[in-house]
Amino acid sequence: MNMVELIYEGKAKRVYRLNDDELIIEFKDEVTALDGLRREAAAGKGRLAAAQTAFFMNYLERNGVRTHFIDWDGDRRITVRALRMVPIEVIVRNYAYGSFLRRMPMVKPLTRFSKPLVEFHLKSDELHDPLLTTDDLIEAGLLGREDLQEVINTSLKVNDLLMGLLGMHGLTLLDFKLEFGFSRDGRLLLADELSGDTMRILKEGRHLDKELFRKGASAVDLVKAYAELNTLLGIS
Ligand code: C5P
Repeated sequence: MNMVELIYEGKAKRVYRLNDDELIIEFKDEVTALDGLRREAAAGKGRLAAAQTAFFMNYLERNGVRTHFIDWDGDRRITVRALRMVPIEVIVRNYAYGSFLRRMPMVKPLTRFSKPLVEFHLKSDELHDPLLTTDDLIEAGLLGREDLQEVINTSLKVNDLLMGLLGMHGLTLLDFKLEFGFSRDGRLLLADELSGDTMRILKEGRHLDKELFRKGASAVDLVKAYAELNTLLGIS
């Protein structure tokens, strides 16, 4: 790890450049909420989140979704393909929760939508990731029309696959966030992470995801929930 260059440090991850085509993402043993205002050490979380990401990315790849994932080191690091990232967050929602309820307070929490909702947010901490219309992101040149359609189709396919997988284990997928990027040869790949930090997953009404910490649980209880999720899914 000494030879690689740190190119980005976020709230939950560090990104290192391994070579021209590959990066290493290192998941931190830390958890933050409230735009980083609340931060706690969370021993063991990095490995659990890296294992979740490896597990879900492998599962999606096996089912025909192209991702940036290459390898997991068995600890807190994954190797991924270096991409030109699209600066948007794609959120898929199956049930009314979180920021959806803040903008649509007339909808009862946990209402199941008639179909999955796909929405887009600009990635900007400064602007608090504002909601974008599809016209916004096309006009701003963030994505072309065909690429946007591919992002939507892939996001819905990811939702179907994850709902099916989690459903088999008695788990409910409320919503999740995806990011995409372009490979050097121009292919659109699923990027970033898939973990309890980026998905809301219920087991008999109980969160096994970061919502616990957002709602005031300790980092220790959050790590326990991530470990429970991994055990349920048979993740090593
Ligand atoms: O807060 P909100 O309801 O918009 O979040 C929807 C989903 O996207 C949740 O599963 C949340 O964990 C995820 N998310 C994320 N990163 C963000 C915002 C939301 O992973 N910056």
